[in-house]
Amino acid sequence: MKRSLISREGKNDSRKKIRLCPTNEQLMKLWQSAGTARWVYNYTISMQRMNYRFNNGGFLSDQVIRKHITKMKKRPKYYWLSLVSNNIAKQAVKDACDAYKKWFHVIDGSSNLYVEIPKYKTKKKTTPSFYNDSTRIKFKDKSVLLEKIGWVKSNVNLPVNKKVYNPRISFDGKYWYLAVGLEVDQITYPISGTLGICLDGTYPVVLSTGEKFTSINQTDTMRKLEKKLARLKQQHRRKIRMNEDKLFVEKKNLHKLEIRIQLIYRKISNIRENYWHYVTMTILRKRPEKIVISYLPLHELMKKQEHQKRLSKECYYELKRQLHYKCEELNIDFTEVAPTDPCSKICYRCKSMNFNLLESGVVYQCLECNNTILKDRNTSLNLIDYSIN
Ligand SMILES: [Zn+2]
Repeated sequence: MKRSLISREGKNDSRKKIRLCPTNEQLMKLWQSAGTARWVYNYTISMQRMNYRFNNGGFLSDQVIRKHITKMKKRPKYYWLSLVSNNIAKQAVKDACDAYKKWFHVIDGSSNLYVEIPKYKTKKKTTPSFYNDSTRIKFKDKSVLLEKIGWVKSNVNLPVNKKVYNPRISFDGKYWYLAVGLEVDQITYPISGTLGICLDGTYPVVLSTGEKFTSINQTDTMRKLEKKLARLKQQHRRKIRMNEDKLFVEKKNLHKLEIRIQLIYRKISNIRENYWHYVTMTILRKRPEKIVISYLPLHELMKKQEHQKRLSKECYYELKRQLHYKCEELNIDFTEVAPTDPCSKICYRCKSMNFNLLESGVVYQCLECNNTILKDRNTSLNLIDYSIN
């Protein structure tokens, strides 16, 4: 899996995620590190909250909290803080302070974003993860050197002599992964015109070239997985109910069931993400000069019950995210149409408007030139001529 973004230094860097294959001993260390990171994060948040409440609403800088934690390490009660690399605690404090600062800027009025107060990381709901110092991390043939954990085997090689940014280790419910940012050179592609993409019509994705992509959720594999998930969730609900009535008090099997449910969720989201990778790569192999996608008011649509389930299954956010960063990497112009643009109402051939179209209709029929075409295809063809003015 590769993710790319413009790094803080302004260079183009690409994020790479590799799977780790730790031994049992290393596995214990990984959990220990992630646990420490979570604890320090929560500790920082609670310190900031206390300070805000009882100390004239000020903001504690991360140096102050770090010094405090260094002192705590000397106490026998907190001996376990020094069992893992000190950079883990350092970064956890920084992460928490950054999150808190964002909220703080909203409170004191210097930012007009809507940010909620940072929440505590719960054991059940947050992804176990921690940081490794970017200068101390080392690679050799299919292994990675992590601080105080040692050489951990991985599934692929990473470049030995490249500079890496922000290495993070995380657990997705089944495996441990390492994600690092690597510097890459800009790739230039030969170019061929503009490509219009219509989202969420009769098909999830329709291109102006006429290509259609069907929904991944209608494949047999996905249907089977969804069924299995529904069954397990029902079992889970029943067991919880029985626990409440004191008919069945058994925590171990309940926990096993929860893990099984989690793994199916993981599988489903991996399949969806993979499918969008396939779709975006197929689109970008056409090497367009510019990509224009139709506007999709996901925020508003998700509020309506009839769309909610379908849209959350399709994961259009993920598609847009992938298209966006891949276009950035390949230097392709990426535009999203303004919400007011009537691109679905215009005939692409004679440019006359037709406002009497049915929302549910599949076909676009032009009253002026008798043009009959798939509605989504018509929209995507209109998108080619879209310009921001
Ligand atoms: Zn027409």
